[in-house]
Amino acid sequence: MRTIISAAEMKAAGQAERAAGRSVGLVPTMGALHDGHLSLVRACRERADVVVVSLFVNPIQFGPNEDFTRYPRDLERDAGLLREAGAHILFAPEAAEMYPAGFRTRVEIEGLQDKLCGASRPGHFRGVCTVVLKLFHLVEPAVAVFGQKDAQQAIILKRMTRDLDLGLVIDVRPIVRETDGLAMSSRNAYLSPKERAAALVLSRALGEVRAAVRQGTLDAAVLKARMASILAAEPLARVDYAAIVDPEGLDPVAEVRAGDLVALAVHIGRTRLIDNWVVDSKG
Ligand code: AMP
Repeated sequence: MRTIISAAEMKAAGQAERAAGRSVGLVPTMGALHDGHLSLVRACRERADVVVVSLFVNPIQFGPNEDFTRYPRDLERDAGLLREAGAHILFAPEAAEMYPAGFRTRVEIEGLQDKLCGASRPGHFRGVCTVVLKLFHLVEPAVAVFGQKDAQQAIILKRMTRDLDLGLVIDVRPIVRETDGLAMSSRNAYLSPKERAAALVLSRALGEVRAAVRQGTLDAAVLKARMASILAAEPLARVDYAAIVDPEGLDPVAEVRAGDLVALAVHIGRTRLIDNWVVDSKG
């Protein structure tokens, strides 16, 4: 595995691979890798000859009071995991490489960026779209692999890819969970043992909704009330949102249908966690 820190070198490496007839795939990450990330690397290997994994804690997607400075960073450990998982290129630029002095451009996905996570994290998706579009231009992948864990992000990036005719495939892979159901996340490292136990309330609430839908309850108000009461029973949990929305516009639905998104964002202590279930998916 080759590690690249320069944007120009990344661009040249991608061009050389394509010139040699090899297809390039990209897995964007912020590091602090876990099995969720590695599942994306393995998926990418199935779809492309050369797997590029980017590792960049993107400053412009964090709000002023968020965890940018304390976000877990361990490049050496991550590089080892990626080598084992079969990645070919690790692209790990510094912030000044991605945003040199004078950088002013932002990518906005109107409407979608302000809902759900965007409502409590203003500017977050603008930062995500800006960095991902830059990565797409630097790496020029035929396929980019993302996780369903960040459902709104995947929907927004698909929209951006269509709207801007980027001509690459966005492949979204299932949520990888701990054995007790907690969705894997780099932020789980922040949780104390008590908080770790409390964090199970997210997957439990989604599990209840799934069971209710499968028994024929389709009224979104009833399902949301059920989620709200489960979440309210956990003293360490403070709900940001518990929503049931359509997957195109991310607008609330009255009655759930296959493909709708049941999405949660919950603060457990100081840590904000997200999780979701797509109606009728195996999940
Ligand atoms: P992050 O490093 O948090 O920016 O995540 C990088 C990519 O990994 C994103 O596409 C995430 O959706 C994906 N990802 C994060 N956690 C999981 C998980 N538990 N299962 C599957 N994909 C995940």
